[in-house]
Amino acid sequence: MPDDKDREKHEIFEELRADPRYHDFVRGCLNCGVCTGWCPSHRFFDYAPRIVIQNCLAGEDRVYGMMGEYIWACAQCFSCAMVCPFNNNPGGVVAILREIAVRRGMMSAKRVLKPYSRVLLKVMTFGNQVSPDMIQPDFFPDWGPKIPWAQEDLELKRQAIPVPTLRTVESAWKVAESTMNELYTINKEAGIFDLVEVNDPGLAEVIEDDVQDKVAAYLAEEAKKE
Ligand code: SF4
Ligand code: SF4
Repeated sequence: MPDDKDREKHEIFEELRADPRYHDFVRGCLNCGVCTGWCPSHRFFDYAPRIVIQNCLAGEDRVYGMMGEYIWACAQCFSCAMVCPFNNNPGGVVAILREIAVRRGMMSAKRVLKPYSRVLLKVMTFGNQVSPDMIQPDFFPDWGPKIPWAQEDLELKRQAIPVPTLRTVESAWKVAESTMNELYTINKEAGIFDLVEVNDPGLAEVIEDDVQDKVAAYLAEEAKKE
């Protein structure tokens, strides 16, 4: 009887092969290594696109072996796909495997995505990736001793900017409420909230609460106009 790990291994392999992109991305392999020669990640990590394709051809054990740190070493530049004489796309295979890791809330996905939680929070609740209030000495030590100055009187400094949509502190610029409403709908319908929930339940709760408050306020304002 298969144990949980065997089942997971098998399911991941089946999910990979059932992805409509898979047979475009894996067409056979000459084992020539041209892709690896062009791969920037290969220069810095124990990682090679040739191995990605060879592992796919070798079966579920080898694919499962890539689901830890391995798939997160790829820079997603797709140089490998440009040069492969067989038209394989190792970077594309990695993208599918990452999606599987995120959908399943695998430990490697949680670990890699954790540092992006602040960015995710900002994107989903304010519509921008970064904001002035994220520029903190702890996060940008390379900015040197002047960074505390950037935080002093931040609201006042932002008010001095001539463009009104930039006079915000908690977002890089003010995104229209109608746009935020659209973003919320897209994220909801595309299952993005579900993915955040699987990988970081605490963050998902904060985002959902904030976004739902904003959407409710927006809808109330719209109703008043009618
Ligand atoms: S997409 Fe990934 S595997 Fe392909 S060349 Fe770029 S870093 Fe290497
Ligand atoms: S370039 Fe293509 S054929 Fe050559 S090793 Fe890489 S994936 Fe295989």
